[in-house]
Amino acid sequence: MKKDAGLNRSVTSKWRPATQAVRGGTWRSEHGETSEALFLTSGYTYDDAETVAARFAGDEQGMTYSRLQNPTVAMLEERIALMEGAEACRTQATGMAAMTTALLCQLESGDHVVAGRAAFGSCRWLTDSLLPKWGIETTTIDARDNDAWKASIRPNTKVFFFETPANPTMDIVDLEYVCGLARENGITSVVDNAFATAALQRPLDFDADVVAYSATKLMEGQGRVLAGAVCGTEEFINETLLPFQRNTGPNLSPFNAWVVHRGLETLDLRAHRQSENALTVGKFVESRVPTILHPGLASHPQHALAAKQMKGFGPIFSFIVDGGRQQAMGLINALELIDISNNIGDTRSLITHPASTTHAGMSEEARDEMGVVEGMLRINIGLEDPQDLIDDLDKAFKKVGL
Ligand SMILES: *Cc1c(COP(=O)(O)O)cnc(C)c1O
Repeated sequence: MKKDAGLNRSVTSKWRPATQAVRGGTWRSEHGETSEALFLTSGYTYDDAETVAARFAGDEQGMTYSRLQNPTVAMLEERIALMEGAEACRTQATGMAAMTTALLCQLESGDHVVAGRAAFGSCRWLTDSLLPKWGIETTTIDARDNDAWKASIRPNTKVFFFETPANPTMDIVDLEYVCGLARENGITSVVDNAFATAALQRPLDFDADVVAYSATKLMEGQGRVLAGAVCGTEEFINETLLPFQRNTGPNLSPFNAWVVHRGLETLDLRAHRQSENALTVGKFVESRVPTILHPGLASHPQHALAAKQMKGFGPIFSFIVDGGRQQAMGLINALELIDISNNIGDTRSLITHPASTTHAGMSEEARDEMGVVEGMLRINIGLEDPQDLIDDLDKAFKKVGL
């Protein structure tokens, strides 16, 4: 394997994220293939016993076992790190494997974690159920409130964990303030950047310490495989995360890594076009429903903050109808083009009722506090012609009396 055209990392790291997404960290085999090769192998062979001994001792570079390294996976990790502006990256089998690894690798009983309360349902399960069970205290706060972050710090606070925009309320967290506050207090900030990706927002540019991904979403972008990634400093990835990952094995399969490579080639195009389409459809939806939560619309209370830290507002927004669960479900049942699906980041437009799907596992009280009401719907806008999406929604709105 050799690096693309003999370019070294200091040259390739000058490229902008859109270039990195297509070319960053390319390794080519002796065949000089154009597209990234798929190395579907679990193990490796060696010329002699001394070579394998040297590799296990860390004296020689090279692959030994695919839970530790795989060329297709390593290529993806280098590419994501370069897109993100991170020193290093490791990938995992799913977004939840990435979040679990990013948190557990650095926490121990007696530590304290502060987390944004508006979060993906399983991320809330980590902070509400798993961590406390293992003796790690957690506090969930309104992550939009900078003072709440400051007030929640204790002597044993080790991690700030949040997503922005947050699922499904589209809360925006002030990256510069919250990551800066973490730095000042020796706390590690872990940002779940699934809704934006490096194409729309780079938390490390605002001093975040760790960026964690569900690559299943906008990054892969075509609804094919599950994947996750964690980016950070070389020290964090190699010394804190890697020992945990190597020995617990949440690894990404080479095949799925190869599919994510295919997604990254079009990430910049998709992220920007889907953001534009979401704004077009969002403006229509805004004219028909009492509440819309879309960081790209001037009606969003944090629109200015979103505009400051994002290059585009992403494909996802939520809206609320007055008629509760019945009207919300009636509306999505009346759609013909837009699919009922709880996935996001796909090139197809998808809609879901969070209270009965993605956030059904939470208590009603926690849902209410987060703002996930019965009349809320979350939509992912894809690459279809936005006028066809508007026509579909218009017909469904009329059917439920909106
Ligand atoms: C989907 C999602 C996850 C979990 O990712 P999986 O790949 O489904 O495991 C975590 N965080 C956010 C914000 C998500 O949207």
